[in-house]
Amino acid sequence: MQIFGDYHTHTTFSHGKGTVLENAHAAQEMGLKELGIADHGFGHILYGMDKRDLPKLRAEIENATAQTGVRVLLGVEANFISPNGDIDIAPADIEKFDFILVGQHRFVKARFADKFGFLLPNILGIKSKKMREKNTQAIIRAMEKYPIDAITHPKHGMAIDVLAVAKKAVETNTMIELNASKMLFSREEISQMINLGVMFLISSDAHHPEKIGCVENMLKVVKEYNIPESQVANLNKLPTFKRKKL
Ligand SMILES: [Zn+2]
Ligand SMILES: [Zn+2]
Repeated sequence: MQIFGDYHTHTTFSHGKGTVLENAHAAQEMGLKELGIADHGFGHILYGMDKRDLPKLRAEIENATAQTGVRVLLGVEANFISPNGDIDIAPADIEKFDFILVGQHRFVKARFADKFGFLLPNILGIKSKKMREKNTQAIIRAMEKYPIDAITHPKHGMAIDVLAVAKKAVETNTMIELNASKMLFSREEISQMINLGVMFLISSDAHHPEKIGCVENMLKVVKEYNIPESQVANLNKLPTFKRKKL
């Protein structure tokens, strides 16, 4: 049992420690067929990548593919920026990426009204019923609006209704990440998601080349929680992305 691709990895284009080529070499050593570079979206205040760097990033990705034989893809870990499902990648920019991951992060740029009603309560860690509803709506509406491939670390640091998100994920063909850096789900949540037909994506969320493909703990979760192999998109096979060029 192994993953064929690790699609949530960071580089020096945001706050990862390795270059694209270093990540690709690490992926090659781990025997991966594909590697996704998914640096933080443009709207992340601390670590967001610079939109102007995209052509350079694409060139480095092509070079890394040629040098290592690992197929490197250009993705992004975008941010939810409002309860209405807005993300920090404009529709016109979506086509620049091979795949889109979106996660909830605290320090992102947002419209004035959303700063106080949405971001600040999350920064402060408020897990009220109202914030739970807002966060859940943010994810659900984003899945309706954008061709999102996977939701990264749902539930991390913020309250959400896991089942409501999972239902919409199945409906919109969006994967739910099993993040090797953060185990977020209870056994019961995993089993409910299996029953709903959720497709999971295992990833390392590596911020250092050494961590690429290190997902042993999630392979253990798959085994212990009886997640069917067919419900893990990158287990013993390659996943299909909505925007992946064939
Ligand atoms: Zn993240
Ligand atoms: Zn990440």
